[in-house]
Amino acid sequence: MQKRVKWLSFSLVIVTLLVLIVSAFPKQEIVNAGVENGYYGKKPKYVFYFIGDGMGMPQITSTEIFKGTLSSNNPMNKESLSFTVFPNVGIQTTHSANTFITDSAAAGTALATGYKTNNNILGMDPTKQIKFRSMAEMAKEKGMKVGIVSSVSIDHATPAVFYAHEASRKNLYEIAISLGDSGFDYFAGGGLLSPTGPKKDKPNALEIAKQKGYKIVNTQEDVMALTKNDGKIIAFSTELAADSAMQYDIDRKDRVSLADYTKKGIELLDNPNGFFMMVEGGKIDWACHANDAATTVRDVMAFDNAIMEALAFYAKHPNETLIVVTGDHETGGMTVGFAGTQYETFYNKINKQTLSFEEFDKAIKNYRDTVGPNGANLEDWLPVLSERFGLTELSDYDKSRLKDSLAASMIDPKKRSKNEQAYLLYGGYEPFSVTTTHILNQKAGIGWTTYAHTGVAIPVYAQGIGGELFQGSYDNTDVAKKIMNIMGLKFQ
Ligand SMILES: [Zn+2]
Repeated sequence: MQKRVKWLSFSLVIVTLLVLIVSAFPKQEIVNAGVENGYYGKKPKYVFYFIGDGMGMPQITSTEIFKGTLSSNNPMNKESLSFTVFPNVGIQTTHSANTFITDSAAAGTALATGYKTNNNILGMDPTKQIKFRSMAEMAKEKGMKVGIVSSVSIDHATPAVFYAHEASRKNLYEIAISLGDSGFDYFAGGGLLSPTGPKKDKPNALEIAKQKGYKIVNTQEDVMALTKNDGKIIAFSTELAADSAMQYDIDRKDRVSLADYTKKGIELLDNPNGFFMMVEGGKIDWACHANDAATTVRDVMAFDNAIMEALAFYAKHPNETLIVVTGDHETGGMTVGFAGTQYETFYNKINKQTLSFEEFDKAIKNYRDTVGPNGANLEDWLPVLSERFGLTELSDYDKSRLKDSLAASMIDPKKRSKNEQAYLLYGGYEPFSVTTTHILNQKAGIGWTTYAHTGVAIPVYAQGIGGELFQGSYDNTDVAKKIMNIMGLKFQ
């Protein structure tokens, strides 16, 4: 008995001591508790950072299913993408400092600098006073070569967060000037949206970049002929699509691809001090804003092809290379599954689409200009819907939606209704175009909930030196912190 009392009081003393010891330490922050961003291993010489704008799990899964249908008649065939088989997979939260639904400026700031900010702010804090340094700026300072590649204009939010710091992502002229000031070695893909400022009265930013030592190439031949002796490069094709972006891959034909620009970048940037290259699949987001699944999956495939160029390089330098692939947020509220198709999908149906919504919009505009506001007839379009979208079996409900949207498309865009019903139906897009992709996507079993972004978490895939750090669940700011730590750059 006495022994038991002794044992009890001994235990009490130990427990009390433990409580005292634990409470003596300050409470750990709950945010990111348990996230390991510290890295003490070998540093990679070559770092690839692939960001699929608007690319969440639905875009990735849809592309895997779509790719499977291309290579087999079996509707249950699904083919992995190059990065979905990477050995390290994690998940990142995407909210910005002021909303659960981030924009690309705030998400890009987190992914490039490791800091949260408000939507619309680029590489600065929410008070717009403090400039956050990006990993690309740090890598350049350390002596590595730096490349920034995007399928949208190179002054767009995601590429810009790596070299610019602006209170608004819309300060496009200032962003273009920062591009020339960056000293980065390779900019490629889309062009500039505002090289002479909003009033077109400022000195051309490209001329200023030229004076700072950049060689500017704007034909496909010149891009492909570039060599290491050409120095610092700004490369884009003269044949740009709307908003100074590259074409959607579904419309690209034989023009330079995102993979071509990535391959050329590797060739130009390779040097004894190593390189950092960010490649953005920027038009995945744009196709999702417009709720166009066929154009989306084709652009994810183009992005995947660019990643394959990095993997070909990785195969030669497996012990010196890190490849990280992620998205900045999901766009469109895309999903695999639609009320009308319940438990089935028919992705082979979107394979029949042979042009993007953007190209289809041009045909609708021509028709509007020809027939006038009251001259539309759905019959005129049935052969086009069949030939370019594979839409042959239309129900009465489909036809009534198409007829209404065609009538709406015949109204001058400036005079169109902006009421709730018009926005929910068409989201500000060409009514007949967005209704056509909605109907086609729904028949394939693909649903959409919004014309904007959504707030869901996004997968992260990593392979190579330090890749194991990307396993687990963390914030988007941690993605940047992990890459910085792995590269030996100081997050500050
Ligand atoms: Zn984005």
